Amino acid sequence: MVQVGMFDKVCSVCGKALSSKSSMLRHKNLHLGIYSYNCSVCGKGFSTKDGLSGHMSWHTGTKLPCPVCQKQFRYKVDLLKHRKVMAH
Ligand SMILES: [Zn+2]
Ligand SMILES: [Zn+2]
Ligand SMILES: [Zn+2]
Repeated sequence: MVQVGMFDKVCSVCGKALSSKSSMLRHKNLHLGIYSYNCSVCGKGFSTKDGLSGHMSWHTGTKLPCPVCQKQFRYKVDLLKHRKVMAH
């Protein structure tokens, strides 16, 4: 027995089951290369909100300060490197 409506919750591309129709629509966009989150500044698309907010720090100039000496870094790896070099 085939239940009508059951199939719009399973992705026809990869077979992934989604909990709702809206998450299915968002999921299908991934296969189409359409991103759910677009940067309002440069238009770059991201599949996750975290990806977009990480990218937005580029435009807003948000930097990561060293908790010890307050020196600011653009990338987390640079901050980690700094703390290693300064041994603090
Ligand atoms: Zn899929
Ligand atoms: Zn951007
Ligand atoms: Zn420091």
